[in-house]
Amino acid sequence: MIIKIEDLSYIYNQNTPFEMKALDNVNLVINEGEFIGLIGHTGSGKSTLVQHLNGLIRPTSGRVIVDGMDTSGDKKNLLKIRQKVGLVFQYPEHQLFEETIYKDIAFGPINLGLNEEEVQQRVKKAMESVGLSYEKLKDRSPFELSGGQKRRVAIAGVLAMNPKVLILDEPTAGLDPRGRDEILGELKKLYEEENITIILVSHSMEEIAMLVNRIIVMHKGKVAMDGKTREVFKEKKKLEELGLGIPQITQFMREYRMKGNPVDDTVITVEEAKNELIKYLRSKGND
Ligand code: ADP
Ligand code: MG
Repeated sequence: MIIKIEDLSYIYNQNTPFEMKALDNVNLVINEGEFIGLIGHTGSGKSTLVQHLNGLIRPTSGRVIVDGMDTSGDKKNLLKIRQKVGLVFQYPEHQLFEETIYKDIAFGPINLGLNEEEVQQRVKKAMESVGLSYEKLKDRSPFELSGGQKRRVAIAGVLAMNPKVLILDEPTAGLDPRGRDEILGELKKLYEEENITIILVSHSMEEIAMLVNRIIVMHKGKVAMDGKTREVFKEKKKLEELGLGIPQITQFMREYRMKGNPVDDTVITVEEAKNELIKYLRSKGND
């Protein structure tokens, strides 16, 4: 277990006319090595929840424990918590500010007090992790880059802190298909190659199906569903009640099955569907 969330509630603007309960008694355990998809309708509390996980927001009531440390506890632990849990905000490129890409990514590691050589290694590795060429780009201004590349610089800045847990709040929002696919591919590779736990907030069921092994569904500040990716996507009706859907390919296979083709309709990716259809059509051919 790396993160434990106990009876967490959070109220924005408490005791004012604008009071808003954003999280309502959330209990969750996040284990090391999980790749979690956090989904839910707009306003369901996803961003508020993830900001609790690195101590950026403190609970109104309840507790968040990161690697044994309470985010509301000793102030000196907060720095350690921020180091362990890296949070990539929505539209993180808005927070780029240095004149070169190198300086931007190095900002966190320098603040950790690492020496120049260590900082340089961190920056290089982080840039490579997100598919940016260190030699070509390190001295360029982040503001000259495309939207997708800027976002990758911002992600590299978080990765350069060597977090144990990486949280990304809608990292592909507003990107073109190419920028989106590049970031998703890099996340997949990062998860496979590094000893890291990832929490991905996303609107896209396709992205979620392709990457994660557990889905947590938020609804009105509560955890509405929590389970293995495939199990959660079997619950089409329940997801629809929560304003969500299932991957398009799963929907297609369900409809194909209802038309009298007994295929496995619990597949969640195009690759799985392809294999299932080939198997089915071959068996039909043999009848
Ligand atoms: P999500 O990320 O799932 O869209 P949020 O965590 O952003 O949800 O929001 C949860 C609820 O809290 C929403 O009703 C939202 O309007 C409210 N909220 C979010 N941020 C603030 C804020 N800074 N001040 C007041 N209310 C907020
Ligand atoms: Mg949000």
